[in-house]
Order: sequence, then C-alpha cells, then structure tokens
Amino acid sequence: MAFEGLSDRLQNTIKKITGKGKVSEQDVKEMTREVRLALLEADVNFKVVKDLIKRIKERAIGQEVLESLTPGQQVIKVVKEELAELMGGEQSKIAVANKPPTVIMMVGLQGAGKTTTTGKLANLLRKKHNRKPMLVAADVYRPAAINQLETLGNQLDLPVFSLGTEANPVDIANQAIEKAKEEHHDYVIIDTAGRLHIDENLMGELQEIKQSVNPDEVFLVVDSMTGQDAVNVAESFDEQLDVTGVVLTKLDGDTRGGAALSIRAVTGKPIKFAGMGEKLDQLEAFHPDRMASRILGMGDVLSLIEKAETQVDEKKAKEMEEKIKSMSFTFEDFLEQMDQVKNMGPLDELINMMPGANKMKGMKNLQVDDKQLSHVEAIIQSMTKQERVEPSVINASRKKRIAKGSGTSVSQVNRLLKQFEDMKKMMKQMTSPKKGKKKGMNFP
Ligand code: GDP
Repeated sequence: MAFEGLSDRLQNTIKKITGKGKVSEQDVKEMTREVRLALLEADVNFKVVKDLIKRIKERAIGQEVLESLTPGQQVIKVVKEELAELMGGEQSKIAVANKPPTVIMMVGLQGAGKTTTTGKLANLLRKKHNRKPMLVAADVYRPAAINQLETLGNQLDLPVFSLGTEANPVDIANQAIEKAKEEHHDYVIIDTAGRLHIDENLMGELQEIKQSVNPDEVFLVVDSMTGQDAVNVAESFDEQLDVTGVVLTKLDGDTRGGAALSIRAVTGKPIKFAGMGEKLDQLEAFHPDRMASRILGMGDVLSLIEKAETQVDEKKAKEMEEKIKSMSFTFEDFLEQMDQVKNMGPLDELINMMPGANKMKGMKNLQVDDKQLSHVEAIIQSMTKQERVEPSVINASRKKRIAKGSGTSVSQVNRLLKQFEDMKKMMKQMTSPKKGKKKGMNFP
C-alpha cells in the first residue's frame, strides 16, 4: 500500500499527542524528532525534512496551538497542513489550450511507466472530462514501445498516431498535431523516447520536440519506488526541459513515500497525477491535502466519492434504488452491482481510503479476497435466468448443478443464497417507509 511504512510510524507518533489535554513544548519537540526520523527513514530528502520540521515546530509551539482547547489535535492539524504544503498545497490542474488541441508531452526514463501513463491519462481525460484525446508514438528507437502504445490504444479504443521507426520524432509530433486538428481531437498526448539513464542525445531530442510543438504541458513520469533517484532524475529533466508537472507512478507499491514528499520541494514542480496500479483506470489526480490525510490515517473520503462517481452510472444507481425499494432486486442486479464495485479497483485500496481504516482491528491486515468475490460471481453466472430472478426455485438438484458449474461446493451455494436473503431483509428494513428511512443503498 502507498506510504504504509511511513504512515504507520507517523500515526504511532501522533497518536501519543492527539488525546492530550495539555501539550508542552517538550511534547512537541519529542513528536517532531520522531516525525523527522520517520521521514528520513522514508527516504525523504534531508534538506526537505529539515525545513519541514522547522516549520512544524515554529507553528506547533506557538501560543495559539498550545493554549488552545484541543492542543493535541491542533498540533496534528499543523503536521497535516505542512505535509500537504510540502506536496504542493492545492491540487494543480491540467492545462487547456485556448485553441485545441492541448498538447501534452510525456517524458521520463525507460521503465518509469511513461507509455502506460500516456494511456491512463488519455483514459482519464476521456472518462472524467469527456475529452477526445489522440495518442502519439514518438519513441522511434524501440519498435516495442510503438506496439505497446498501439495495444493500449486498441484496448481503450483511442487513435494512436505513428509513422513507424524511420521517421523523425519532431515530424511525427507535428504531423500528429495537424491530424488531431483535422479530426477534432482536443488533446494530443505524445509518448517520447526514454533511456535507462539520462543522456545528452535524448535530452537534445526532447528539447527539439518541445521547441517545435510548444506543448501546453510537459509531464515528467517518474517511478516513485526509486525514492531519491526519482528526485535526482526530476531535477535533471527539469533543468533541461523545464517540465510543467510530475506524474508519480507505482505509488501503490511505494511504502516509503520519499519521492512523493520531496519532489515538489526540490524541483518546485507540482505532482499532477499518481499511478496507483497497472490497470488503465489506476491513475488519480494528485491532491496533496488528501494525500496528507491518507498518510496520517485520516482517510480520503473525497477521493472515494469521486471514484464512485466516475465508475458508477448514476442512472443505473437510481434504477437499482427503485428496485431495492420495491423489493424486486435479484441476483441479476447483484451481479451488475458487483461489476460496478469491481470497476472501482481492488477492495483493499478502497478500504485504505476510509478514515481510520488502518486503525480498526483486523482491517489493516485484511487482504480482501478478490477470489472469494469471483466465486460469488461464478455461482451467479451458473444460475439460469429464472433462478437469478426467483431464487426460491433453486432446489437440491439445482444447487448441485450450480456448484458443479461454478467449481464451488453446495455449501458455498447455500451460503450465498442465505446471504442474499439476509441482504434483502436488511434492505427492506433500511428502505421501509415506516421507519422513516427512505435512503436506498447503491451497493450491496
Ligand atoms: P516506460 O518504459 O516508461 O514506457 O514504462 P511502461 O509504461 O512500459 O511501464 C513499465 C512497467 O511499469 C509496466 O510493467 C507497467 O505495467 C508498470 N507500471 C506503470 N505504472 C504503474 C503503476 O502506477 N503501478 C504499478 N504497480 N505498475 C505500473
């Protein structure tokens, strides 16, 4: 999980101070010492840590905080605000050109996740912002990179502009932009070449492309798991190309957070997006304040709601609510709801966005078993249409057939049938007008 190690340590530290009715200067000093160690251990840049701790101390030892009614909480508020500030404060938005198309140039070292992120970004722009992006394969040195982008384009059903490996990247980029204008694409995302290490030729080529197409954004893609290396890479790219933003990839596997917490302070460039997994919908806008909340175990309810909003079809949710109210909710509907929840991403990732989730006993180590979900899915898929709508017809021999068809056991089938009945009963109670609670549930 992102920042798990850092998060654990910081939470243990702040727990000690949160409930205190009275907080002394000494308490604050002790806390900041521990925060400092936790950050250094997380591979946050030394100077960044030093400045941050200084600011936290100055603010937390101030009279307003220590003499307030809830000093412990005020101190934590300071820590949260400073962490958020470190990562850039407000979320920074993506540019929109006055005259379309908006041109985004993706740069970064090989393996950082540039090509994947190009696809993810296009997907996000289309899904969340209703844009019509076009992808451009400008890495002419590796045919595999062009193929990879074309495969992504196919998966996403988005056009990929390519002139093969013989053309010059500057020409490719310019021709792509012309084509995008003709075909009314409002975003052009150029996937440029990467190398294993920074080299002059590469930088020269990227500078040429930049000069020629004058992009609205130059996004540097860095692998967050490489910690301070990512920060150094960012510094070099920024010096040569003056990037407009950073995309941190593989944050899902970064338990430390050193790059995320240092990059903005070192380069002065905002983190715009974070890659949270290999799938094409696992790119999130980077919100420093929400990220700070997540790190401190305060949850990230806003991101959770946004995730639900992009993945859940509102009309369908309304229909579902009606069905629940009228008690006509069937296994068929259940399957559909499961699909929607699954689209939101792995369940443990969602749970981590809930406030206090990692403090709840058992929750932290809860490996939500996606396998179990697929059993449930398989069982429902092995039912006939009639059985899904009218489960009461499922007798012993049908149960045997369903268990066989889904590769499960009769007792698993029984359990699901029972759970479904219980769920319906619960829904009935929740939606019963007599109790005055009219709210439906969007998810089972
Ligand atoms: P490029 O050489 O920079 O274009 O890198 P690729 O796009 O080919 O990505 C390299 C590897 O990183 C691939 O296996 C991707 O699936 C993986 N990857 C990219 N972004 C993420 C991410 O946010 N999380 C995880 N877990 N893997 C990622």
